[in-house]
Amino acid sequence: MGIKIFMTDVDDCLFAWNDAFMEWANKHYPEYEGVIDAMAKWNIWEKFTNVNQAQAEAMLKHFNTSAKQAFMPPKLDSVEYVNKLIDEGWRFIAITSVSDDPDVWKLRKMCLDTMFPGGCLELHCLPLHGSKKEFLQQWQGKDYFWIEDKLKNAEAGHELGFKTIVIDHPYNQNSSAGITRVNSWEEIYSILTSSET
Ligand SMILES: [Mg+2]
Repeated sequence: MGIKIFMTDVDDCLFAWNDAFMEWANKHYPEYEGVIDAMAKWNIWEKFTNVNQAQAEAMLKHFNTSAKQAFMPPKLDSVEYVNKLIDEGWRFIAITSVSDDPDVWKLRKMCLDTMFPGGCLELHCLPLHGSKKEFLQQWQGKDYFWIEDKLKNAEAGHELGFKTIVIDHPYNQNSSAGITRVNSWEEIYSILTSSET
């Protein structure tokens, strides 16, 4: 049996990025006041009542290159169901626009390997805010799933012909027909395992 591969974003797919970020920001930037529904906001400055765009960008860069990148919490039920997929022969290619600092790659790889032992076939850390469309083209023609929470990257994967799954968040509504919307890794597990022929 050959290995089965899916491609996935990391933040707010495998890792609970927003939760980790808001908790970290509260510790490192106590003067910034977080909003209650920070998870619903895509833009960092909208996650706070008193942060401008430049401050938000500086804080984002700080967080995404911090030691926290090796100690991120899991998103939803990812630990249970991604490890179940790994047990059943699935492996993943992780593509994240966290930062292209090579030390961040090492921190994230440690975190992924701790959370999902043996699962991460490849980890690609693109520049912060980097678009994934061109990068995804190297796998075009492969029958891979593509899992995302950012609408733009989900649409890009869908346009390239990947079987695209979006994890539902308030900021990624109104995706194209043909993109599957889920609320858990349990659902992703069902979709992936029922696709096996
Ligand atoms: Mg993400």
